[in-house]
Amino acid sequence: MTEQVVVLGSGYAGAGTVRSLERSVGDDAEVTWVSDVDYHLVLHESHRCIRDPSVREHITVPVEDVKSAGTRFVQARVTGLDTDRQVVELEDGEINYDYVLVGIGSQTAFFGIDGLRDHAHTLKGLDDALSIHDDLKRATNEATADDPAQVVVGGAGLTGIQVAGEIAEFRDERDAPVEIRLIEGLDEIFPGNDPSVQSALRSLLEKRDVEITTGEFIGSVDEQQVHIAENGQYDYDLLIWTGGICGHEEMESCQVEKDERNLRFEVDRTFQSSDERVFAIGDAALIEQGEDDQAPPTAQAAWQAAEVAGENIARAVRGQSLREWSYEDKGTVVSVGEDAVAHDIFIVPFISTFGGIFAQILKKTIAVRWIRDLTDTGTAMAAWSEM
Ligand SMILES: Cc1cc2nc3c(=O)[nH]c(=O)nc-3n(C[C@H](O)[C@H](O)[C@H](O)COP(=O)(O)OP(=O)(O)OC[C@H]3O[C@@H](n4cnc5c(N)ncnc54)[C@H](O)[C@@H]3O)c2cc1C
Repeated sequence: MTEQVVVLGSGYAGAGTVRSLERSVGDDAEVTWVSDVDYHLVLHESHRCIRDPSVREHITVPVEDVKSAGTRFVQARVTGLDTDRQVVELEDGEINYDYVLVGIGSQTAFFGIDGLRDHAHTLKGLDDALSIHDDLKRATNEATADDPAQVVVGGAGLTGIQVAGEIAEFRDERDAPVEIRLIEGLDEIFPGNDPSVQSALRSLLEKRDVEITTGEFIGSVDEQQVHIAENGQYDYDLLIWTGGICGHEEMESCQVEKDERNLRFEVDRTFQSSDERVFAIGDAALIEQGEDDQAPPTAQAAWQAAEVAGENIARAVRGQSLREWSYEDKGTVVSVGEDAVAHDIFIVPFISTFGGIFAQILKKTIAVRWIRDLTDTGTAMAAWSEM
């Protein structure tokens, strides 16, 4: 009987795996692709929709344009994975599998901070970005020059920095009365990264009048204020929390080894989990990369891993040995509104960190290249002119 392979999620992990699986598996398996939305979202550009919702047309790609005719797509929310029965549980129904790839990304971690889940926006999908846009517009419409709208962004990683930058661009384009504060618990923004890129990002944000507060952990949140754990509080009209990620709670009861604290699947370099029929990549997984080291939760890593994941599932189907994958850091480009900072870009070997027009073009090129890889040059070029 033909093996059944099921791929969960239509982000970088899911869409990329479907593409590489289709190339490798031939007639040896039937592929079913499940996601709660019927499009792929270029999530790493989703913050653009906060300023301009029309960007959504260019950062969403219908699954029909990604998959081949032989792959079955099911739009449904995954609610669990029963590894004993080899079944993916859906909101209404189930799908049997011989092999499954979990690529459903992550959800926002609230770390038990009182009131945060109830009062803060998060950014994990298109609807989140559009809802932030609506509330930003509402807050600025009600604000005046004497009483500007207070926007607080919690967490200064890739998401928080780019969100703060987009809101600054929104404010400047409309001359809107908005004050923006970016709060980071650790001592520097973009924690864990090179000091040169941290300081380049800081100076771009400060040039855009984003107030940066570091070394302050949010302790609790109520309807009007963010309370700092140590002391003090900030008023807000709009609060966006981007301070951490964890695995989806739908996977909590699944009998596969996961990190105790954040529920992400622990997998080896082949992406195989403690259950040989369950593979995981992208934000949903902690992919071992040597002792105490894991691949980062980035689009870049998910995209690279997907290429090998599809091939490995095809190999598993045929009973062949699996390939090991190593993450290759090709550099980082982070936007602050229309500006950008690039760091350690592999095609620019002698300059570590740079901004300006070249960094801006690189930022666009990365997104457009991904869209081209998933679709075609025409679709990618249309996205280029609008992003
Ligand atoms: C604003 C922002 C900016 C970012 N900037 C960068 C950047 O500059 N560079 C970079 O490398 N990374 C960046 N990232 C991180 C990057 O986007 C993620 O690491 C990446 O999206 C992970 O890919 P993924 O496929 O694992 O998950 P996702 O892209 O989140 O995809 C998950 C998929 O699963 C689906 N799904 C979720 N739950 C379910 C369910 N229960 N049932 C069915 N389907 C489900 C979702 O709809 C989605 O299709 C950014 C992230 C954000 C939010």
